[in-house]
Amino acid sequence: MTAIRKVSKSPWVVHFNCNSCNGCDIEFLACLTPIYDLERFGILHVGNPKHADVLVVTGSVNHRNARVLKNVYDQIPDPKVVVALGVCASTGGVFADGYNVLGGIDKVIPVDVFVPGCAARPEAMIDGILKAAEILETKRRHPETLPAGQPVITRTPTAAAPAV
Ligand code: SF4
Repeated sequence: MTAIRKVSKSPWVVHFNCNSCNGCDIEFLACLTPIYDLERFGILHVGNPKHADVLVVTGSVNHRNARVLKNVYDQIPDPKVVVALGVCASTGGVFADGYNVLGGIDKVIPVDVFVPGCAARPEAMIDGILKAAEILETKRRHPETLPAGQPVITRTPTAAAPAV
């Protein structure tokens, strides 16, 4: 898992389900539980995009929700970073050939980190969010890098989930 550098502010994360089967959403919720404990990295889950620095998105984007996704993205103050959680958010995944599907969320908003997997594992999600927090810090210190630079693609960990 990524070792996070010193950052100037706790990254606040808002989650948006774009068009997912809920599989990745369940795994993201697992990140917030005491087992995976995203908060141990100082990362806070918030419900309002106006309070957030990091947008995590699950599911593919389609003609119907593209405008909503863009609206959520636009409400997040700069600097901000975007994490695509799961293969659907990254490429459209199993929904890519749908008649109304545009593909991955990068068709509508800039993406900083792609986390592959179906569903993406909580360890991979946390790794991706920590990478995003580092990119966010770089954007804070070097605002000329806005908007998103080259996206990062994380590796899916193969380790078994911790015993409950
Ligand atoms: S990547 Fe898999 S688990 Fe995640 S939303 Fe798509 S189909 Fe569901």
